[in-house]
Amino acid sequence: MTHSFDALILGGGAAGLMCAIEAGKRGRSVAVLEHTDRLGKKILISGGGRCNFTNVHCQPENFLSANPHFAKSALARFTPQDFISLVEKHRIAYHEKTLGQLFCDRSARDILAMLEEECRAAKVTIFLNTQILEVRRIDEFIVRSTNDEFHAPALGVATGGLSISKIGATSFGYDLARRFGVKIREPRPGLVPFVLGDSDRSHYCDLSGVSAEVVASCDGQQFREKMLVTHRGLSGPAILQVSSYWNKSRPIRVDLAPKRGVTTVFDDPKTPRTASVLKSELRKVLSNRLADRWLDLHLPKSWTNAALEQFEKQLHSWTLTPASTEGFEKAEVTAGGVDTGELSAKTMECRKVPGLYFIGEVVDVTGHLGGFNFQWAWASGAAAGRAL
Ligand SMILES: Cc1cc2nc3c(=O)[nH]c(=O)nc-3n(C[C@H](O)[C@H](O)[C@H](O)COP(=O)(O)OP(=O)(O)OC[C@H]3O[C@@H](n4cnc5c(N)ncnc54)[C@H](O)[C@@H]3O)c2cc1C
Repeated sequence: MTHSFDALILGGGAAGLMCAIEAGKRGRSVAVLEHTDRLGKKILISGGGRCNFTNVHCQPENFLSANPHFAKSALARFTPQDFISLVEKHRIAYHEKTLGQLFCDRSARDILAMLEEECRAAKVTIFLNTQILEVRRIDEFIVRSTNDEFHAPALGVATGGLSISKIGATSFGYDLARRFGVKIREPRPGLVPFVLGDSDRSHYCDLSGVSAEVVASCDGQQFREKMLVTHRGLSGPAILQVSSYWNKSRPIRVDLAPKRGVTTVFDDPKTPRTASVLKSELRKVLSNRLADRWLDLHLPKSWTNAALEQFEKQLHSWTLTPASTEGFEKAEVTAGGVDTGELSAKTMECRKVPGLYFIGEVVDVTGHLGGFNFQWAWASGAAAGRAL
């Protein structure tokens, strides 16, 4: 069967649904083509099932891209407050957890239900279980699926990144971009745990489950949040944040005692300079198991001021080179993607291919942890939805 619409959106996730809603509200006839059996699967598993749907402190600095200015326009025209207004219109209860991160009180299902309801109100047609076999452009775009053919003058690509293929992620958006001659920046896992090399792993990974408040840094970026030791390496928000900036074979740095000094206790000449005093100071800053392990591995060679200074320095600048990351199957996002130089920052339309739009995670704009990736999906989706 052949269907004609004003716009086709490939991918029924966060960006695709927002784009369809905005376009539908403008009176455009819009179809969303989704290859799985339901919309927004990633929304449902996000934020531990509560969906961290935005961040009230959202700034362009919270995003990585080869062009750090690209996201500014879309982010300014669809703000966290715009999404919050939608959430409030649907009477969805939410709360701020930490650092401006907004979560549903109840469930991420509320956000998906809200988007589905907005789609219905905007008369968006949804096609699920739709395997796309071919996309061509003659006078308009022609999308062929197993049973149908779809025609439209505008095509939005919102098929997301490569993270978590078992819930529907594919390389479709990148492949399609390449086929239309659109440049791609190599996709790589972002917000992903690190795997440590054999030596570090043997020293620390039996402490799996132990966490600490740290400052992790990499490539000039630093994040003060929790770090978690895993059975293969390191995770936790601070580590996930720096992973997006990590390039293979580069070291990362971890301050295990931010703004604390553990050897200052020895400034008092009456304090005996012993391992047990140092251990009890370290245990005030780190969990007992991590403190004891750190001391085992970094016991000062002597008790001179210089040796203690060295101990303090190491504690604030633990430098380690991860062997790898846990890869796309554990990554919360895919960094890299459609080169922003190919797109209009205002509309997300491809300069080379009029009528073709790329939105959401498939674009080379990646948010920090904390609701920023959804904010980019909403903002870029809205930008295209107001234009196509
Ligand atoms: C476990 C997890 C938790 C997360 N939690 C948060 C969070 O709390 N806050 C936050 O801001 N971000 C979070 N993220 C990131 C966030 O989910 C994504 O950045 C966001 O969903 C990207 O939106 P998108 O619409 O671009 O892509 P997606 O939401 O991935 O949607 C892409 C859609 O396209 C479909 N698709 C793919 N290939 C095809 C094809 N060939 N044909 C048709 N359809 C196709 C997919 O099935 C999917 O429905 C989380 C990610 C993960 C993996």
